Amino acid sequence: MYTEKRFCQCCGLSLKGRSDKKFCDDGCRNTFNNQQNSIHNKGIQTINAILKRNRSILLAKLPEEKKQAKVLKEQLLIMGFNVRYMTHQGLLPNGQSVQFCYELGWVILKENCWLIVRG
Ligand SMILES: [Zn+2]
Repeated sequence: MYTEKRFCQCCGLSLKGRSDKKFCDDGCRNTFNNQQNSIHNKGIQTINAILKRNRSILLAKLPEEKKQAKVLKEQLLIMGFNVRYMTHQGLLPNGQSVQFCYELGWVILKENCWLIVRG
């Protein structure tokens, strides 16, 4: 019977036994999974940090008692706002698009004038 040579995905040693085996033992499986998780989490953490910073900046410009506030885009950029990162998009009844960072959104009124809104 032909058996394909297989190797542990963690340490690279050849595997014996069941054909669906991917690791030598639980130790290798755990090590591999932990490494995978840390790589994946790092990507998520980096982006989450940018999104959270964007949200804080929007919050700082939108007082609690207000539903919306006009701001200069430049001011947001100076505070560290990253326009490339948002969580989702929406459409206003007039067809204009709203970019959201969690529950806060922004509408581009003019090149440098934005309207921050609550979602
Ligand atoms: Zn191994």
